[in-house]
Amino acid sequence: MSRLVVVSNRIADPRKPAAGGLAVALGETLKKTGGLWFGWSGKTVPDGMPGEGKLNVHTAGTVTLAELDLAEEDVDAYYRGYSNGVLWPVFHYRLDLAHLESGYLSGYRRVNRLFARKLAPLLREDDLIWIHDYHLIPLAAELRAMGCANRIGFFLHIPLPPQQILAAIPSHEWLMRALFAYDLVGFQSEADLLNFSHYVQAEATAEPVGVSQFRAFNSTVQAGTFPIGIDVDEFRRLGQAREARDTYDTTCKEYSRRRLLIGVDRLDYSKGLPQRIRAFGELLREYPENRHSATLLQVASPSREDVDAYVDIQHELESLCGAINGNYGDLDWMPVRYIHRIIARRRLPGLYRACDVALVTPLRDGMNLVAKEFVVAQDESDPGVLVLSRFAGAAEQLKDALLVNPYDIPGTAQAIQRALQMPLEERRARHAALLENICRYDVHWWCRQFLETLAEIR
Ligand code: UDP
Repeated sequence: MSRLVVVSNRIADPRKPAAGGLAVALGETLKKTGGLWFGWSGKTVPDGMPGEGKLNVHTAGTVTLAELDLAEEDVDAYYRGYSNGVLWPVFHYRLDLAHLESGYLSGYRRVNRLFARKLAPLLREDDLIWIHDYHLIPLAAELRAMGCANRIGFFLHIPLPPQQILAAIPSHEWLMRALFAYDLVGFQSEADLLNFSHYVQAEATAEPVGVSQFRAFNSTVQAGTFPIGIDVDEFRRLGQAREARDTYDTTCKEYSRRRLLIGVDRLDYSKGLPQRIRAFGELLREYPENRHSATLLQVASPSREDVDAYVDIQHELESLCGAINGNYGDLDWMPVRYIHRIIARRRLPGLYRACDVALVTPLRDGMNLVAKEFVVAQDESDPGVLVLSRFAGAAEQLKDALLVNPYDIPGTAQAIQRALQMPLEERRARHAALLENICRYDVHWWCRQFLETLAEIR
């Protein structure tokens, strides 16, 4: 078995309890193969020169962690600038929020080249390399330019938009050409793969050769869908631990006479939070029996607060929640509880379990793991209902949720009403079907599937 080398923007220490399912799944395979995980440390070097970085290599059991400190100027251009100011909005279909005119591209290329320069000496001939996400699209091309002939796979955790949107990025061709330096490119959903296929056929006159193989720019790349899952066992264990049980008890006690709806999201414009709050307001307007009864707990954990678009959406949300609470709230009932902080992952299973309905209504999302976590946390004999945006990658798998168009406010309100009124039998049937899918396609399946496909490419 080849050694696995994982490269991602940030590293999560797989031994730490705060590590999510992804870190646990990758950590297992890294452990088995005595692997290497390479990424940015999250730290900057004081007075660091652009394009230079300090590498710290240490071991954690059988796994080697290699963390690179970056110059502040590089973090600005590569991370805040190009990754989060250009690629994130465009890949989430938000051209209106993208800083396309900016000069961030050179910093993005510079840091990808630096990653390659620092990683190359650590590589062995038969390493299997797995590069993650939009921060590092050109990394394989940089490694190839240094003579790296290893098998390299890439997984895009966020959506890939249609060709007409991608083509608005001034260097779209360079970016997409870079994908052809990989042996395997993985997407979250069929919709993303279809967008890739349209793009390369329209812009690069690529020809499909064989199953999911495309030939363009003098290379061939295999592309496929690998919908990411959660670590179901780990999440169940969290649900049985004390903190989750305490959270369940206190939430049930506090809202004993209410119907509870839950939303848990990073405060990001892709999550459709204003539309969701409006839909909840519409529910109270259109179906008055929910007044004094339904309460929405919306966790919006702070994210990228140094970016203007994130500050704007925070203000919009505060004002929307305030308006609903002002219009409908009473001495003994506050319709929306807006919680602008991170809730520890270990408490979430208890919170999910105490709620009747989850609102997972992003305008666009690569996958959305909260949807899967909510289902796993439910009491199978009396499960809650998942209301899910058709524009989340998860919707392709979770067809037994109540699928909604988050832009359609009355339609979403109607679905929430249906969720609140759903008979027990239907709730159980839907929940069982969702759970089956989530357990079968968990994060270990995802990891295995991707690595086996990569290893088998001729
Ligand atoms: N999460 C958390 N605390 C919070 C908000 C989110 O632990 O306050 C976790 C959540 O349980 C999930 C992840 O963060 O595992 C969010 O993943 P998702 O795919 O839903 O969205 P992303 O933030 O990656 O866009």
